This record gives sequence, C-alpha cells and structure tokens, in this order.
Amino acid sequence: MTLSLTVPRSQLEKLQTHLKQGGKREIGGWLVAEQTAPGKFELVGLTVDLEVGTRDRFDSLPEPHSKQMDRILLESSGRTGRVDYLGEWHSHPAFPPIPSEIDVASMTNMVEYSGPSFAALVIVRLMGSASIQATITTFQRGQLPKAGQLIIANAVPEAGFSESWQPPEL
Ligand SMILES: [Zn+2]
Repeated sequence: MTLSLTVPRSQLEKLQTHLKQGGKREIGGWLVAEQTAPGKFELVGLTVDLEVGTRDRFDSLPEPHSKQMDRILLESSGRTGRVDYLGEWHSHPAFPPIPSEIDVASMTNMVEYSGPSFAALVIVRLMGSASIQATITTFQRGQLPKAGQLIIANAVPEAGFSESWQPPEL
C-alpha cells in the first residue's frame, strides 16, 4: 500500500519558517502524524534541531526531539486517530529533495536493525522564499524503499509543490 501524508497549511508554514532559519545548512527532525485510515496519515507536528547537522542525525541524540514530540503528542490528545512518530524529515538546501545513498542507508539500517520496523522519510527543499519541493519515501523492514504521496491540504496552485520521484533500484 502506498502511504499518503497530508500536510496542512499550518504545518507547511512552520516548515517554511524552519527552512528559512536553516538557510544553507541541512536541518531536520521527526515527523509526528495522525493515522486517519489504513495507509493515510496527517502531519500534526514536526520536531526540529537547528543546531545539529543532519548527516548522522539518525544516530544523533534523540533528547531534543523526544521532548518536542512529547509536546506535540500532548497538543494532539484530542484527535481520534492514533498519533505517533511517523519518521524523519530533513532539508536538502543545495541539491534535489530526493534521498541520497546515505539517506537510504541510514533509514534502511534504522528499520532493519535499530528502530521501528517502518518509517517514512520526507525530504524538502525551499525554492525561492515560498515554494517547497518535497518527496516522501517509506521504508519497511524486509522491503525496498517506496515512494509515497504527499498531499498539501488546501493547496493553492502556485504553491509549487512537487513530489515526482521514483525510488532507486537497490
Ligand atoms: Zn539527505
């Protein structure tokens, strides 16, 4: 099943703010999402660490992210669907928002050995001051990475959101 993640405008605006703060540095964090139906998720929050570079983020200290996630969970307690960690996100300020070999290796390592057996990876790139390019890829233990679908809620046509990417052949 192809996973779809709906990103409300409010979350997109937060993401844009983080990306502007991050500038040329790669930044990232965790995705927290509500499951609304099988395979369907809505982004309810994202954690961000503006201090740490992201190359080894998958192994970096979870401390700031788990604290931020606790707050997001608390704020989402009124939701009916299950709200939980969905995966990771980070920016590619200088190159296309598709998973690098390092990204694929890190995520695969996480689902195969150290973390949850399933996780999504969202990669974003700010184009100009308002437009965001992004992809989502899902990783499941024992399976190849798979492209998911990102949906911008109430998207305006000029938002310039794209999610055309096919996962690499491993
Ligand atoms: Zn990357």
